[in-house]
Amino acid sequence: MLSNFKVVLVETSHPGNIGAVARAMKNMGMDQLRLVSPKYFPHADATARASGADDVLRHAGCFASLPEALADCQIVFGASARDRTISWPSLTARELAETWAATDDVAQPNIALVFGRENSGLKNHELDLCHYLLRIPCNPDYSSLNLAAAVQVVCYELFVAGGRQSASTIGDRGEAPLATAAQMEAFYEHLQQTMADIGFLHPERSRSIMRRLRRIFNRTQLDTKELDILRGILRFSQNHNTK
Ligand code: SAH
Repeated sequence: MLSNFKVVLVETSHPGNIGAVARAMKNMGMDQLRLVSPKYFPHADATARASGADDVLRHAGCFASLPEALADCQIVFGASARDRTISWPSLTARELAETWAATDDVAQPNIALVFGRENSGLKNHELDLCHYLLRIPCNPDYSSLNLAAAVQVVCYELFVAGGRQSASTIGDRGEAPLATAAQMEAFYEHLQQTMADIGFLHPERSRSIMRRLRRIFNRTQLDTKELDILRGILRFSQNHNTK
């Protein structure tokens, strides 16, 4: 089981798609489904389309917001059919699988695969919570797959790569565990507050600067000890500033 992978669906409108996602996941040996404010769930259409994967539906976690669904995840991928104006680092489904799938998932970080709404995908503020964009290469003139089809392709790539590989070394450096999304969010708040306190951050520019800073830190994949050092520096400079 690729149990360190969490499939996260954001505000899905059609319950049938949720069922089809559960089926797609179970076919590929995955069972960790998280739902953020689905329009209708549970629902007979979801159960019908799950077609025997109703155990995945039964165990699905429901969350009121995306940050809550991601709180214990260390690496977050946001699947998007569209090119975005923000230049986030991006990976294809195959590249994701080749880098992150591993047969031994005991020591593996929790990895979230976030999928957007059927009609409008993921919003920019949701992509801000993701470390990488995840793309399924396809016809550039018709690039939006059905939600469950998109989940199917990604899970398939993970399944195939998982059977081929031994444990990935990335994210398993034998040191402190990688920081979770919740720890990183607390860090970004602390960073933003400190930059405001020391007069560095102009409120009008804070959004674009924070987005760029996130991009830097997402590239580095901080572990909890490294994060402690950075928080220590922030605390120090805040204390120093108020003296
Ligand atoms: N109309 C939406 C697409 C919705 S499809 C839009 O313009 O964004 C529902 C979800 O499936 C998307 O949010 C995305 O997470 C996933 N998806 C669909 N096609 C994809 C593709 N080619 N690459 C990556 N993810 C895709």
